[in-house]
Amino acid sequence: MIDFTLNDEHRLLEQSIREWGAQNVAPFIRENDRRHHFDRDRILDGMAKLGLLGISVPQEYGGAGMDYIALGLASEELEYVDTSLRVIMSVHVGLNCLTLLAWGSEDQKQRYLVPQAQGKKIAAYGLTEPGAGSDARAIQTTAVKKGDRYVLNGEKSWISLADVADNFLVIAWTDLEKKKQRDTAGLSAFIVERTFKGFSSGPMKEKWGILAGNTGFFTLDDVEVPEENIVGRLGEGFKIAMFALDQGRFTVASGATGLIRACRDASVKYARERQTFGVEIGQHQLVKEMIAQMESDYQTSRLLWLRSGWLKNEGRRNTRETGLAKWFATVASERAAGDAVQIHGANGYSDEYPVGRFWRNCKGAVIYEGTREIHKIMQADYLLGYRTDRPTRCELPPHRG
Ligand SMILES: Cc1cc2nc3c(=O)[nH]c(=O)nc-3n(C[C@H](O)[C@H](O)[C@H](O)COP(=O)(O)OP(=O)(O)OC[C@H]3O[C@@H](n4cnc5c(N)ncnc54)[C@H](O)[C@@H]3O)c2cc1C
Repeated sequence: MIDFTLNDEHRLLEQSIREWGAQNVAPFIRENDRRHHFDRDRILDGMAKLGLLGISVPQEYGGAGMDYIALGLASEELEYVDTSLRVIMSVHVGLNCLTLLAWGSEDQKQRYLVPQAQGKKIAAYGLTEPGAGSDARAIQTTAVKKGDRYVLNGEKSWISLADVADNFLVIAWTDLEKKKQRDTAGLSAFIVERTFKGFSSGPMKEKWGILAGNTGFFTLDDVEVPEENIVGRLGEGFKIAMFALDQGRFTVASGATGLIRACRDASVKYARERQTFGVEIGQHQLVKEMIAQMESDYQTSRLLWLRSGWLKNEGRRNTRETGLAKWFATVASERAAGDAVQIHGANGYSDEYPVGRFWRNCKGAVIYEGTREIHKIMQADYLLGYRTDRPTRCELPPHRG
């Protein structure tokens, strides 16, 4: 049976994030955005206190033990305030913690997942490199075995929380012959700590969106990683990287849905305040059209991520549905943000109103975790029979409540 009713836990979660965001983030976000400042203590402490940093991680591993709908709701509420908040959910919870939950050894869960879920350590995900984004097989980072350790060398770029995170899930080639053949069975996944010798990071200084967030690069210069930090088995790195994206994309989809709602609410408010030709601009049919489109995009995006969250709760494969939700919601958020600026006229072109920030922030999500084009190709390939999802060795644990 289909049931769209949120339970009491969900409603309380939404309410707590709204109150925290309104009191602790909204008053400062414009200034932090302008100053390109990631307000680490305020944001991470607040999110940890709300239990968000381990939201869908079972309590036995330090998390809040909530379901995947809760993860989507949190992402939607956080991005309603600012995209930088939702990015933390995407990389720390989606890409990293949930991957360790599904693929990590018990020892890795105790050493890394527990402190991460408790919010004591922050985690990130390193796949992209200066020469490889969509084409993940083109990465150059290598991990060469030396005794009971692996020596990692390479550079990862455009990494969310690169200057903030303590632990990184890093994808690297462990089989150099397979690297030459671009055979993904030669890729492996490692947990790398910032404190490991040879690790260094820095910011992407010229970034023009998500300015209150942290995005950077890190370099691995002969970084020695113990063998027990390989996630999954040797050669499972590509599968793990793709599995992680199934979780990250879910938060990006639900987050973009929150951004559409923020655009809609700001536009409705402004359309009731601003007058032209003797009437509120909301009276003009062409303005109504933009607002109606925002509502249509919001409701559709929400249904798509809710379906995906339901599939996750049921323990069913959802790569196809999550990809569709991510593609639709991010493209729709770009449309909503562009129109929100338009409705605000010249005022939308100023930081005095939030819609300019929404517009700068929305674009990243149309690029990361699978570009718009990659998602289009994926959806077409499913239909054409060029792509099917094979079962993976490890799956996200279901949450049936
Ligand atoms: C704000 C931000 C945060 C990010 N955070 C992270 C992170 O935490 N961790 C991480 O690993 N990465 C992160 N990324 C990187 C992101 O995942 C990549 O930018 C993305 O995968 C695209 O890769 P690219 O930038 O190299 O573009 P490219 O792959 O070079 O693509 C360039 C263009 O060509 C198009 N294109 C490429 N291949 C095809 C094809 N086969 N068919 C049609 N069109 C194609 C693309 O759609 C795009 O329009 C982040 C990026 C941004 C902007």
